[in-house]
Amino acid sequence: MQVNWRQIHAARNSYAALLAACEPAGFSLRLVDLPAADVTCYSLNSLNESYYRDEIAGAEGITIVGGPHATACYREVAGYADYVIVGEGEHTLPRLLEEIERGGTGDIPGVATCDHYTPVKSCVRLDAYPAFSEKQGFVECSRGCPFSCGYCQTPQIFGHCMRHRSIDVIAGFSNRYEHARFVSPNAFAYGSDGIHPRWEKIEALFKCLKNQIFFGTFPSEVRPEFVCKESLALVNRYCTNTKLHFGAQSGSDAVLERLQRGHTVDDVIHAVELCTESGITPVVDFIVGFPFETDEEQVSTVNLIRQVARSGKVHVHRFIPLPGTPLAGTTARPLLKETEKACGNLALAGKITGSWSEPAVRFFRPPSNDIP
Ligand code: SF4
Repeated sequence: MQVNWRQIHAARNSYAALLAACEPAGFSLRLVDLPAADVTCYSLNSLNESYYRDEIAGAEGITIVGGPHATACYREVAGYADYVIVGEGEHTLPRLLEEIERGGTGDIPGVATCDHYTPVKSCVRLDAYPAFSEKQGFVECSRGCPFSCGYCQTPQIFGHCMRHRSIDVIAGFSNRYEHARFVSPNAFAYGSDGIHPRWEKIEALFKCLKNQIFFGTFPSEVRPEFVCKESLALVNRYCTNTKLHFGAQSGSDAVLERLQRGHTVDDVIHAVELCTESGITPVVDFIVGFPFETDEEQVSTVNLIRQVARSGKVHVHRFIPLPGTPLAGTTARPLLKETEKACGNLALAGKITGSWSEPAVRFFRPPSNDIP
């Protein structure tokens, strides 16, 4: 049975991980630019889903769709795809492929169709699956997040319990290449429960890595309250990156509380100051346009953006109500004219990047060879 993987830039790390997970079952995922016989797999997020929906619905072969959007909206996706992988794919995808090859119905835990869905009862143990095989990917060192930020799909997909790859396994994959880069919801939570840092575990990991380490930068950002003297000392001693990337999201404590961010504005300011004192450039994310944000709260965010931009870099994004999140189904509030103007001026001065007006422009561009 020929199994294909639809090339989608945003899903390149999922491809590396799932290719490696499927190979032991005898399936190699051939990269394609259009669906092909016998089976084509897709990984979709909520921004690119509408672009691929008709292609999947019209595919002649069997289609399997996973990814954040499929997990959040599996009933809707099962309306146009043959099979939907709900949640983690490392265990479920090879089992589903074996089931399809046997001519079964695909009624296995973690797979939804228009006729059935049984949730999986357990989650993936990261050490049980390779991070990647011949197609290099970032090494996912941790998965799951104990927080419940109102706009975020991560805990809905991977759960609230943090799981970690072991140091030896991470080192085995990372040391094959010149650079060690990681995927984590909070790199500074490595080895911990996600709330109480374990700096000794991070140092033990760093000591086993023999290459240039990039830690706390995309795609392994950190939380602001984990930025402290200990974590910065570790980065300065062992890592190549001179930037740390973390989310502030709002300049209002009331908004942060409603988002259940679990940190304050002061935590953000403190993190920025500590980075600057340590010679590390803070790269800070903000979201504007939360549905419940008042004018005053939006102004507070703009003021904090200005403050951070004096010593660091800022990414500003417009709120997107992603399905499956606590804020799903809400609508982004309009931006104040002052917000648009302030962001425009800061962008012209090279102080901020992002997309506060049209989030889809930044987060999803159709591949150039796909544009009709
Ligand atoms: S935004 Fe980060 S900290 Fe918040 S729930 Fe998502 S992964 Fe966790």
